[in-house]
Amino acid sequence: HNDTRGRGPHILVVPYPAPGHMLPLLDLTHQLAKRNLTITVLVTPKLVSLLEPLLSANPLTVQTLVLPFPSHPSIPAGVENMQELPIIHTLQISSVLAKLQEPLFRWFSSHPSPPIAIVSDLFLGSWTYPLAQNLGIHRYGFAPFNAHSMCVLWGQYVEPGTLPPVLLEMFLTTPSSRGLICNSFAELERESLEIFKKKYLRHDRLWAVGPHLPIKDDPLGTTKRGGHSSIPPAKVKEWLDSCKDDNSVVYIGFGSQITLSKTQMEAIAKGVEESGVRFIWYVKDPLKEADMAEEEQNVLPSGFEERMAGRGLVIRGWAPQIMILNHKAVGTYFSHCGWNSALEGLLAKVLLLVWPMQADHYHNAKMFVEELEIAIQVCEGLKTVPDHVKLARILADSVTQTQPERVRTMELSKKAIDAAVEGGSSYNTINELVNEISA
Ligand code: UDP
Repeated sequence: HNDTRGRGPHILVVPYPAPGHMLPLLDLTHQLAKRNLTITVLVTPKLVSLLEPLLSANPLTVQTLVLPFPSHPSIPAGVENMQELPIIHTLQISSVLAKLQEPLFRWFSSHPSPPIAIVSDLFLGSWTYPLAQNLGIHRYGFAPFNAHSMCVLWGQYVEPGTLPPVLLEMFLTTPSSRGLICNSFAELERESLEIFKKKYLRHDRLWAVGPHLPIKDDPLGTTKRGGHSSIPPAKVKEWLDSCKDDNSVVYIGFGSQITLSKTQMEAIAKGVEESGVRFIWYVKDPLKEADMAEEEQNVLPSGFEERMAGRGLVIRGWAPQIMILNHKAVGTYFSHCGWNSALEGLLAKVLLLVWPMQADHYHNAKMFVEELEIAIQVCEGLKTVPDHVKLARILADSVTQTQPERVRTMELSKKAIDAAVEGGSSYNTINELVNEISA
């Protein structure tokens, strides 16, 4: 069956099973496939459907290798995606997936033309790096982060003894691997990219390949990215089309991991209601194994939706985020400042209002709010209850006034797009990466 595939060298891509990690790596995979690499993507059964846009766009060059998700007592049966679990399970998922090392080694051994390199998520270095070593091939790490965040993260890595083994392995295997690919671009943070190379990688092979332009696989554009929307994308678009003024709608969405308490939801709902803005609010399904009961998570105050009918749209479960952000009616994104969401907002030229809550959100927010001055901070902290009066004012101002942050967003957005399109810095860096892998 080899003749049905691309002619370029064969590589294996191993994503970490969380939307914030997997989606950008699949976007990159699309770029690699367009440059004629032959690619196998390793996934577990529940995640196969996420590859739909990638596979349909690259039927000859991308294929899947599906291995069963290894069972583990603290991961509920049937759960294969971090999206359904609290963040404390992050490292556990990495170590559970390490059980795939052996079946994968056997797959390599019996393959007629096995991959010549592995590109795997940073979080999976503990087992994909030794696997590559055993096979005598190169491993490239993929970080869905920017260099600024990675510098902060690595800067905190001072006492190896205190780190859980999987995290320690991540710190160790990243510089030992052949190279590291990150979701950033030179024009955004040249200095941090240089610092990360010199201080933490101690070699030159860091490729900034972002931001990823969406895979256009259907008429509405990227509507199936990461899941199926609970409201059909065409309906969401119809609703947005009915909002006549450009930049008049606020999109509210805190990514694939954040779960909010009743009090937090009440405060946001009050702020939104008092602001008078039109909005789309993405409300995530409850997590399993969380410290909050499922019926306490992400609950909208009663009567809110009825009162807001016509003015706002609530989307439960999963939203076609990129399509929403890119609609001309949407001008503001109230976000947790997860790195993908932040970049998607930037590419879509919307004003970011940020509420950093965990992980790298704080570093991203610092960069966007303090250094680049393209975003406005609403509040911070996972358990924080925002002040609804302040929130209402910020939301209302965002659609009625032209803030300097919005003007600067436009300027940086242009640089981001220029980096990603043909001839741009990230576009060229992907070419260099492909040359390096193929060498
Ligand atoms: N996303 C989406 N629909 C949703 C929620 C999230 O398409 O309803 C996508 C979003 O566009 C982004 C990714 O999921 O690409 C989330 O990554 P991010 O780094 O922003 O945050 P995380 O979910 O990792 O906290």
